Amino acid sequence: MRKYFYTDGVNKFGPYFKDELRFQKISRNTKVWYFGLEHWIEINRVDDLSDIFDAIPPELKQQNTPITIKIPTSEVKYIDKSISFHKKILKSKSSKWIIGLIILIVISIVVIRLVQKQSEVNLYKEIVANSFDADENFDIYVEKFYRDLEFYGIFPKKPKTIVIKFSKLDQIDNATHIHAISLGLNDDSRIEIYINPSSWKHFTKPMRYFLMYHELSHDILNLDDLKKNTSNEGELMYPEISRYENKNMDDFIESFQAVFEQQVKNK
Ligand SMILES: [Zn+2]
Repeated sequence: MRKYFYTDGVNKFGPYFKDELRFQKISRNTKVWYFGLEHWIEINRVDDLSDIFDAIPPELKQQNTPITIKIPTSEVKYIDKSISFHKKILKSKSSKWIIGLIILIVISIVVIRLVQKQSEVNLYKEIVANSFDADENFDIYVEKFYRDLEFYGIFPKKPKTIVIKFSKLDQIDNATHIHAISLGLNDDSRIEIYINPSSWKHFTKPMRYFLMYHELSHDILNLDDLKKNTSNEGELMYPEISRYENKNMDDFIESFQAVFEQQVKNK
């Protein structure tokens, strides 16, 4: 009697007699082989097995998953790909915008800085060009400033370069309202102060001290101006000298001492 092998596509099973084969896990797509065949053939092509084949119920369509799913899967993959492709385009478009915007902002900042720097340089050049040596002895203010600092235990290094000159600030654009200007702020290698001569001329003694100590505090202690609010009015670092008009020497002494005391506290 003929014996059959069958395969699930991966493994082969058997050999079985026909009556054994009918109880195996076979379907209408199962391939079989028996001695004498060159290849595996579909079970329905074997006349001898036709009654087995006829007894196998056809596959349910739902079970036919390999075919029905395979097509949509590849379609889905394709759609997925096209979606992510669009997303990529959108991403790259928006990121291009953002990068462009950032570049634009950076360029603007650089240009603004350059313009500011240039106008500062121009202002500096003009102030220097308009400057001249005064017959006023500014050294006494500088010497006193360092002595007063020493009293508070503050010993900043005295720079070799000390330039204190008159400059006609009231004739320079952007400086007309300035009585004096410190250009050595945040540069400890030099003291560089320019004073408007006509301001100096009509200033009282306390006002001159206020002005000099204000500029020297900028220059030597790297202090900034105080904010222009009423609670700061009359203090040494207040940026409006007109607030000192009615002050006397005692006010000046109190004023700079408060600043120096604060310096000691900040250390
Ligand atoms: Zn100032």
